[in-house]
Amino acid sequence: DASLHLDVRCARLGTRFVLLLAQDNTESRRLDEVRRDFVANISHELKTPIGAVSLLAEALEPAADDPEQVRKFAARLSTEAARLARITREIIDLSRLQAADALTAPELLDVDRIITQAVDQNRVAAEATGVTLTAGGRKHAQVYGDEALLVVAVHNLIANAITYSPPGGRVGIGVSESNGLISIAVTDQGVGIPEEDQSRVFERFFRIDQARSRHTGGTGLGLSIVKHTVQNHGGEVKVWSKVGHGSTFTIRLPEAATPPPTTEQISLPQ
Ligand code: ADP
Repeated sequence: DASLHLDVRCARLGTRFVLLLAQDNTESRRLDEVRRDFVANISHELKTPIGAVSLLAEALEPAADDPEQVRKFAARLSTEAARLARITREIIDLSRLQAADALTAPELLDVDRIITQAVDQNRVAAEATGVTLTAGGRKHAQVYGDEALLVVAVHNLIANAITYSPPGGRVGIGVSESNGLISIAVTDQGVGIPEEDQSRVFERFFRIDQARSRHTGGTGLGLSIVKHTVQNHGGEVKVWSKVGHGSTFTIRLPEAATPPPTTEQISLPQ
């Protein structure tokens, strides 16, 4: 009956193997679907600016004798080219972030520095719409990570806060610490996000109001980039929002423990 025992074991293993294969099949089908959606979305996003570039290029020649028209078409060409460049850059950023589960070489970073850079990058946009940016809260907080990626993440939150604020609105960036986590909160008093959309805004290419968002020049990738960056840093991003009142997006990252003192700093008893 040793061989019977072995047979039963093999049968069980066989069943498990078949189950594993079936699970694997469902997972690979799901991934295929995700990939197909992604490619369909990319094609859709690229079609509009590519179409515009071709039309404008065709329109240039017949307008050659009219410098005013040529200037107008050239300006639009450069807007569409900038949009194409932005979509392409964001798609590449997102693919890189999704391919990596974690950071390869995290460094000790000052949160103040990250915020200062992200705020500076948004100053022109804020001034253009009369939005006031204020940063405050805990000073000298530190986290481990990739500075360039975290600056992009905070930048995206501030850029959205400005975009969806009324002219003359206020956007606040606050840092706090709780239970070993550093929070970076970006608050606006803008249009807000309906409850049913709050969990979906982090999805790739998701926009609440396609018409409104297209008008703002968004790609629907900004928050997805934030989510993947924060996840790669072992953190999370959450949204609180009320339609007509505003939104707060909070990034939470593990606080870097105070680095151990170097040997020179340790004073030995005499
Ligand atoms: P986009 O490039 O379109 O801004 P995001 O991924 O950054 O893409 O945001 C997805 C959608 O979430 C936006 O199109 C917008 O509808 C909504 N959204 C993001 N941030 C805010 C905000 N601060 N206030 C209101 N709606 C927002």
